[in-house]
Amino acid sequence: MHYYIITGASRGLGKALAEAILTEDNTKVIGVARHATIEHDRYHHQPLDLSDSVAVENNLSKVFVQWVDIESITLINNAGVLGEIGYLGEQPNEHFDFVFTVNTIVPAMFMNTFLSAYASYQVPRTILNISSGAAQRPVDGWGAYCASKAALEMMTRTARKEQAIRASGIRIRAISPGVIDTAMQEQIRTIGEQQFSEVERFIKLQADKQLQMPEQVANKILNWVQQPASESEEVVLQLKNM
Ligand code: NAP
Repeated sequence: MHYYIITGASRGLGKALAEAILTEDNTKVIGVARHATIEHDRYHHQPLDLSDSVAVENNLSKVFVQWVDIESITLINNAGVLGEIGYLGEQPNEHFDFVFTVNTIVPAMFMNTFLSAYASYQVPRTILNISSGAAQRPVDGWGAYCASKAALEMMTRTARKEQAIRASGIRIRAISPGVIDTAMQEQIRTIGEQQFSEVERFIKLQADKQLQMPEQVANKILNWVQQPASESEEVVLQLKNM
């Protein structure tokens, strides 16, 4: 059985990934999110608020199970939040805690737990972190998001280097997926220019039908996951080049 642990599987890209995986017979998906929206024999939902790192710690053993029939196992750290869009100096301090917990701290806890739970397994193992172009450039109003995704990318690079030194064979990458037609984009389009100077560009992207459909992105990512690992490829991949 091919196992997939996917955070943020209740909507957007995470749901599209889970549904694409479940079309294949020999797969099981463990989805983690606050809401359960998928009903399927081979789907198991773990309700969890990923902004609550104590609750996450207490529930890790329900997500990272020692299944006996594993042929491969993949973790996709997909859940992500922008939080309230706005400039530094105009935000409540809790905002930074919230965004970094969901986007960086919990993905790091999941990577850490995955690597220790499946260290002795001799099957293909993959960790894929969903990043963003915002990890590589400052976007006004998105300070916590940009910085938390940049930290996620460096966590990915470091873990990849460590696993290469250990010759574990575990594939660890991040992917920047490009703009996708999801609730996150809806949130972006509702913000005033005072909080986010690029809002018009994002409104135009949707009006010009430049947004990718989540299903299209999910299929590309799944194709990549199911290909044999290539040691020569970049650690942080751009979906548009795949
Ligand atoms: P989305 O439609 O807003 O969905 C976010 C998912 O994350 C939902 O399933 C949500 O589930 C889950 N989530 C959010 N907060 C959570 C919490 N506190 N606890 C548990 N789960 C939580 O987002 P998306 O657009 O699909 O984004 C998926 C990934 O792609 C994110 O990492 C995002 O940063 C990245 N990305 C998106 C775009 C884009 O244009 N959309 C571009 C670049 C990168 P619940 O609400 O049920 O908890």
